[in-house]
Amino acid sequence: MGTNIYAEVWHEDAAVAEEALLQVMQEIERINQMMSTYIDTSEISIINKNAAKQPLVVSVEMFELLTLAQHFSILTDGAFDITYASVGYLYDYKTSKRPENNEIEALLDAIDYNHIQLDKKNTTVYFKHPNVKIDLGGIAKGYAVDNAIEKLQSLGIKHALVTAGGDTRLLGDRVGKPWIVGIRDPRNREKQAVVMPLHDTAVSTSGDYERYFEEDGVRYHHIISPETGKSTHSVQSVSIIGPSSVHNDALATAVFVMGLSDGMGFINSLRAFDAIVMDAERKMHYSNGLQN
Ligand code: AMP
Ligand code: MG
Repeated sequence: MGTNIYAEVWHEDAAVAEEALLQVMQEIERINQMMSTYIDTSEISIINKNAAKQPLVVSVEMFELLTLAQHFSILTDGAFDITYASVGYLYDYKTSKRPENNEIEALLDAIDYNHIQLDKKNTTVYFKHPNVKIDLGGIAKGYAVDNAIEKLQSLGIKHALVTAGGDTRLLGDRVGKPWIVGIRDPRNREKQAVVMPLHDTAVSTSGDYERYFEEDGVRYHHIISPETGKSTHSVQSVSIIGPSSVHNDALATAVFVMGLSDGMGFINSLRAFDAIVMDAERKMHYSNGLQN
């Protein structure tokens, strides 16, 4: 998944805890093998290769996650859109590679979640536009964390923390104390912008510092506006707090694209979620539910 996985499990029997940690890592690697666009044999790579030719039968698990991604595209009015990858695949942050404006323009109309046709009865996916590519990077880590937490619950674990990159979920508390979850300062690796005592919830952070390169003072980072095919610059970091990591993950990416005022208004309209946003001037903003 191109990121670090961290898990902490508390149980009175050390052998149970060890087994639980092993299962967490195995589950996350299973999802990586399925959803990584860097792996040629992953289901996502096979979809990208074939789904524009004819409807392609996919696994029920993949179908359900694609359906959830579509749901978030509708909910966020297209700010979250896995077809961003139709242009997004032309960026390589490791080698500072980005598409020229004319390359972006030529592919921009392939970004539209309405191009993805999902047939529930046959669990098929079809791309109605020949240049569509999808990438689950904005939702897969949260999905993996939720699955890992479910594994832990099925093993009877009651106190745990699982983090994949910016996506964290907490089971119970840290045995009598809250878990301490930090949000990193987007411009200083060593520092935290906020620390929060939390239990039994989840937090996802999307930032412009995870994958990026700079050119002529412009930061080209991995969160792409589906409207422009380019990274957005109105905020540096967005954290979403809510019960499920997969939902938080999609919403953090979406609010990052929406920017401060639209994004905060949107989160304030949802009952189950809160947001902490650091804007481009590094000022912190909190949703209504966090005002106290
Ligand atoms: P996150 O890791 O959750 O902060 O989300 C960033 C990742 O989501 C990127 O690395 C891309 O894989 C993917 N992504 C970028 N822009 C979008 C977008 N507008 N909608 C959905 N996914 C996106
Ligand atoms: Mg995300």
